[in-house]
Amino acid sequence: MTKQDLYSLLQGRMSDLTALSDSIWGFAELSLQEYRSAACLADFLENEGFTVERGIAGIETAFCASFGSGKPVIGLLAEYDALDGLQQEAGAMYPCGSGGCGHGCGHHLLGVGSVGAALAVKAYLEEKGEGCGTVELYGCPGEEGLASKAFMAREKLFAHLDAALSWHPGDENRVFTGSNQTSLQVLYTFHGIASHAAETPHMGRSALDAVELMNMGVQFLREHMPRTDSVHYAITNTGGVSPNVVQPEAAVLYMVRSDTVPHAKDLLSRVDKIAQGAALMTETTLARRFLDGTADIVPNAVLEQLLYNNLVEAPAPVYTAEEQRYAAALYATYPHSDSPQPIHEGVVPYIHSDEHDYGSSDVGDVSWLTPTSQILTVTYPAGSPGHSWQNVAIGKHSVAHKGMIYAAQVLGCTVVDLFEDPTLLTAARNEWQQKTANGYTCPIEAGVTPCII
Ligand SMILES: [Zn+2]
Repeated sequence: MTKQDLYSLLQGRMSDLTALSDSIWGFAELSLQEYRSAACLADFLENEGFTVERGIAGIETAFCASFGSGKPVIGLLAEYDALDGLQQEAGAMYPCGSGGCGHGCGHHLLGVGSVGAALAVKAYLEEKGEGCGTVELYGCPGEEGLASKAFMAREKLFAHLDAALSWHPGDENRVFTGSNQTSLQVLYTFHGIASHAAETPHMGRSALDAVELMNMGVQFLREHMPRTDSVHYAITNTGGVSPNVVQPEAAVLYMVRSDTVPHAKDLLSRVDKIAQGAALMTETTLARRFLDGTADIVPNAVLEQLLYNNLVEAPAPVYTAEEQRYAAALYATYPHSDSPQPIHEGVVPYIHSDEHDYGSSDVGDVSWLTPTSQILTVTYPAGSPGHSWQNVAIGKHSVAHKGMIYAAQVLGCTVVDLFEDPTLLTAARNEWQQKTANGYTCPIEAGVTPCII
């Protein structure tokens, strides 16, 4: 099977794949509640002849679809969760949502693009015959919150893979290089005693005071943290709207980031002490609930170079005048000082990096268990803000569909290259072994299970 055959195969499946991503765009389900989206992807793959295992790692909306037999085993990662508050009309040129959920990060495309790659690899494996290798597509729910891949990694789901590949919708065609941050999320809930704030204040113990004191303590901590670290918070429960009631319950959600899992755990233990101090000062009690965590990414130059070669070789999208016009209309709705054109064409030159970016992703946990790499392809206008109404509006447009098929072509060809030339996998593994010599520390605390908050 030539790469040209693979490109044609995916072009031929364009209408099936776009129908699938359009359905998931419409479902717009939140983290760990992607019941219809996960079922739709799993059913599609099952009908295509994949063996599907649902509810893996104890997560209802996680699944694994595999095809083929023998080594090597290559993993493809799929996501399909949406974001709250971003509902939008498809094709809109101004914000006109009504507050529901929307695919502001393009995960309806992400999941289906990986499915497309899996279809192409299946066709290749059928041609090669039995025992030539296996492709496994992992349906990974909840990337936007309550990230599932670390829970799946804790069960060692990716450890047997020879490599894993993924992609993400974006505004440029490029290889994802460099690392990012470990991130841990903990919910601190303080319990006090309600009382009349004027008549019997001495009887009350304020949970809201505890939240405020905790936040103040963390403000002082910030000056004495390594420069790699950061801490963010959201008060999720202020204890009610009545100032004349001493608030009996209040909660604050913290996100703690550092360059490695052990460093993030060290920082979290300092935040824990501040929470305990706030409870002591206010004579409240503290309930601490660890929610989720993601590890930093281990970059892999061998896989990145291979992905880059395929990005350059595959037929990049060519846009019609109508597509250019729609991209320009969205582009006009946000500040875009560093983007001279409404849509980026071509491939960004690849320069490998091991630097840590400031964001986080649960692809990091996969990368600690097997050599892993990712690409981004254009599905949005240049400079379009992440998690924005613009990204939701363009999600069912042919600009988005073209970027998704392009990603499927690049991932599919990269998997075929890995099957055809095992020395690439050896080189990728050698690099990975050096970079992971300290071993994987799962960011998830013992006994914690995925939960919807
Ligand atoms: Zn995303």
